[in-house]
Amino acid sequence: VGPTIAAGEILVEIMATDRGLGFLEPLALVGPYPSGAPAIFIDQVARLGGGAGLIGCVGRDDFGTINLERLRRDGVDVSAVAVSDRYPTGSAFVRYRPDGGRDFVYNIAESAAGQIRLTAEVRQLADRAGHLHVMGSTLSVAGLKEIVAYATKAVRARGGSTSFDPNVRKELIDGADGGQFSALVDDADLLLPSGEELLTAAGVDDECQAVRALLARGVGEIVLKRGAAGSSRFAADGSRIDCAGFLVEEVDPTGAGDCFGATYLTCRRKGMEPGKALFYANAAGARNVTRRGPMEGVAGFDVLDGFIAGTARAT
Ligand code: ADP
Repeated sequence: VGPTIAAGEILVEIMATDRGLGFLEPLALVGPYPSGAPAIFIDQVARLGGGAGLIGCVGRDDFGTINLERLRRDGVDVSAVAVSDRYPTGSAFVRYRPDGGRDFVYNIAESAAGQIRLTAEVRQLADRAGHLHVMGSTLSVAGLKEIVAYATKAVRARGGSTSFDPNVRKELIDGADGGQFSALVDDADLLLPSGEELLTAAGVDDECQAVRALLARGVGEIVLKRGAAGSSRFAADGSRIDCAGFLVEEVDPTGAGDCFGATYLTCRRKGMEPGKALFYANAAGARNVTRRGPMEGVAGFDVLDGFIAGTARAT
């Protein structure tokens, strides 16, 4: 019992409407859209009716307000989101290349997102949480490490669970964060990697070997994201479930993994069978890529049921 909580960066995303290369000339942009992987994740949890709380920091500006209003409206507890008078809310500009890749310009390094601290409000939220979701990408923020350590202990002390999305670059794992990264992988009740991240987390080149190694290290279950191909779920008892992806036209892939993970987790926390949870997660990820804007594709069960009824799946 208790809400699912996540911690990390909250920002806005501004997107180019046409495909092309870089930002070296003026171009048509849309946005700002609320964004930040932990914010997308927790918003999707709330939309599915799971209790949800976010730990973060925004600036006292319109970009911060956009995020706070969206999160509040969707039912996320934002009592542990601090508002900085000194640092602005960060932004990311994204442009899609003709080959489907992405070019980013980030204004995050000196933004409010780096000012996250273990405050009394953060402790209060963590002390009543039932599940903690952590993202590898946020661990490089100094205050985050302390928050993750505190929240992990608090959630575990109450008999709660943890999940980890190891979306982190290799350089970080090899660097100073290696210890905390490995501990987060090993202690995760649920690990949510994409293909490459699975191999990196396990330190081997083969998917089956990686799964076996991680489950032997103590991971509860592994849910592997395979993009358009769907997903697979591996459990400690040796079972495996594969779930084909939905056939959709990809408009904007940002946020798919976060929507997917939040949906799997929330379905499981509601007592759903792993296969059904994986099916809903595939639907949430696929629907998200059909919408422009990272958080514009979040969906409740009613919307997901409609999407499932009207969308074919790969075989
Ligand atoms: P990440 O965003 O973390 O890299 P993926 O791109 O694998 O993760 O997306 C997460 C999930 O969203 C996938 O496992 C799949 O279920 C769904 N998904 C993502 N892209 C597509 C797509 N183009 N078509 C259908 N489903 C998709």
